[in-house]
Amino acid sequence: MRLIVHGARGSYPTSGDSGRIQEILRWAWNFFAQNKFESWEAAQAAMAQKSFSNWKTYGGHTTCIEIQSGAHDKIPLMIDAGTGLGEAVKNPRSYLFQAEYMRGMGRANFLITHTHWDHVIALPTFTPLFVPGNEFHFYSPIKDLGKRFEALFDERFFPVKYKTVEPQIIVHTVKEDQPFEVEDFQVTATRQNHPGASYRYRIESQGKSFVFASDIEINTHEAGSVNPDVNSADVLMMDAQYFPEDFKPGFGHSHFQDVVDYAVTNSVKALYLCHLNPEYSDKQLDIQIRRAQQHLEEAHSGSGLKVHMAYQGLEIEL
Ligand SMILES: [Zn+2]
Ligand SMILES: [Zn+2]
Repeated sequence: MRLIVHGARGSYPTSGDSGRIQEILRWAWNFFAQNKFESWEAAQAAMAQKSFSNWKTYGGHTTCIEIQSGAHDKIPLMIDAGTGLGEAVKNPRSYLFQAEYMRGMGRANFLITHTHWDHVIALPTFTPLFVPGNEFHFYSPIKDLGKRFEALFDERFFPVKYKTVEPQIIVHTVKEDQPFEVEDFQVTATRQNHPGASYRYRIESQGKSFVFASDIEINTHEAGSVNPDVNSADVLMMDAQYFPEDFKPGFGHSHFQDVVDYAVTNSVKALYLCHLNPEYSDKQLDIQIRRAQQHLEEAHSGSGLKVHMAYQGLEIEL
C-alpha cells in the first residue's frame, strides 16, 4: 500500500506567505553558491541532509490522507475531507486525479474520523461530488453521518443544496472494534478520547498495517497499556499537536512526548506526527521533531522505533 498525505495540519488551514518563499530562496541562493552539483537529484539529496524548513514546507492544508493499493482498479481509500482534499484532485499522483470523476464514472471510499470542521470542510467544494454517476462511499461508526453532511450544505453557510450531491453519497455505518472490508483493505474503527468522540482506523492490506489516530488526547487509561488495534503497526500516524509546555488539557489533542511513549508501548515500527499546530512555523516544527527524536533516544534507547513528521506531499510505501 502507498500513503499520500494531502494535508497534515490540524484545527484550521494555514499558508506560508511570500515572505516564507523569500526565506527559502535566500537559503537556496547561499547553499548553491557554496556547493556545486551535477544534477537536481544530487542537489536534492544534499538538501535532504539539512533542516527540512530550510528548503521545504510542512504545508498548510488540514487532514486528508490517501491510501492506494495496487490490488484493485485505482479506487482510493481516503481518510477525512479536510482542505487537503482540494489538493488531492490537483495532484497527478492521486487516484482522484482521473478523468472518470469528470465523466460520472468515478468511485472512491472515505473513512471519516469525526466531523469537526478541519476534517470535513472540503466536502461541499469537492467538485467530483457534483457529477451524477460518481459514487462516494463514506464509512464511520457515527450514526447520523448523513445528517451531519446535510448540515454542511445549510444555505446559511453554503450556496448549493445538499440534494444536488446526495445521490452521489453512500453512507455506511460500521461497528466500533469490528473489522470490516473496503475493497481489499481490512479496516477497524476504534473510539478515541476527543470532545464529541473521534475514531482511529487500522487499515491492513497484503500483510502491512497502517493506523491513523488523529484528534486524540491520550488519557491515563490509554497511556500505559497496549491497544490491540495499534499494536505492532508498521506505520502509526498520530496527533501530536503540542509541545509538552503548550499542552491544553481537555482540547482533545496530545503532545509529542506522550505520543512517542504511546508508540513505543504499542511496539510500532514507524511513527509520523500529524495534526500539526497551525500556530507553529515550519522552523518550530523542525524543533518539535528534533525534540521528539531526542526524547525517543533518552527515554527509549534501543526501542527500534523511528519518528518522523508528516507533511503535505509526503508519500510512504508500505
Ligand atoms: Zn482536528
Ligand atoms: Zn477534532
